Amino acid sequence: MPVDLVRLASWLRCPVCNADLEAAAPLTLACANGHRHDVNKRGYVSLLGGGTKHLGDTAQMLDARDLVLESGAYSPIAAAVTSAAQGERIIDAGAGTGYYLRAALASSTAATGLAMDLSPQAVARAVRSSGRVDGLVADTWRPLPVRSESADTVLDVFAPRNLPEFHRVLRPAGTLVVVVPRADHLAALRAEGRMLDIPSDKAEDVIAASAALYALHSREHVSYDVGLDDALRDALVGMGPSARHSAAGGTPDAAVATTSTTVSVDVIRLTRR
Ligand SMILES: [Zn+2]
Repeated sequence: MPVDLVRLASWLRCPVCNADLEAAAPLTLACANGHRHDVNKRGYVSLLGGGTKHLGDTAQMLDARDLVLESGAYSPIAAAVTSAAQGERIIDAGAGTGYYLRAALASSTAATGLAMDLSPQAVARAVRSSGRVDGLVADTWRPLPVRSESADTVLDVFAPRNLPEFHRVLRPAGTLVVVVPRADHLAALRAEGRMLDIPSDKAEDVIAASAALYALHSREHVSYDVGLDDALRDALVGMGPSARHSAAGGTPDAAVATTSTTVSVDVIRLTRR
């Protein structure tokens, strides 16, 4: 599939000078000030600034994430994200392989998305997965190389948040969808000792921290049990931050391994002030 440089550029600004990027030559974007940025032939552009120290997901973590998501274990979360998302230009910050973005795009045939992630492998998979997804390798913690007011919705599902930058890239009254786990999320798995504790990133904290920039539109608690087989259990552990910490690994005693666990998250819909 040829890379649609015009569509890709429509999301982006130059990370050097903040001027809009435009399609300039085959697999090249450029700004009016002459800064040129190569587009990967797989269809995404990497606009990482200097100073990025965070690690993107590894191929193993991505495989685990794909296994969990394609199993349907998180499909109720995707449904809630989809109903919260608005408009036809959707950015997924921390998109991974694009599962939630694809779900949100399915509600309108005219919708297009930008999958943003720190992991080039994740972004490449997201772009490959849909003809309506463009790809950007960038660091959410840095100023985003994304045009101001270029998105109707920003998705932030289990991902780092940059509330001022999300505000800048959203159009006025645009929608920010944030998904955070509750304390009982995957509690049975954590009780096995295989997962690090989930950071105490509560919905109340997100809503309070965002209040100056966003009004709360709605909040949905999505909670249900999923059955676990060995593959899904391993993948749920392997897709998350615990996968980087060998101390949290190890094989559980099969006799005590849990056969189901609770999925419990808050889906918060905010409106840009
Ligand atoms: Zn520039």
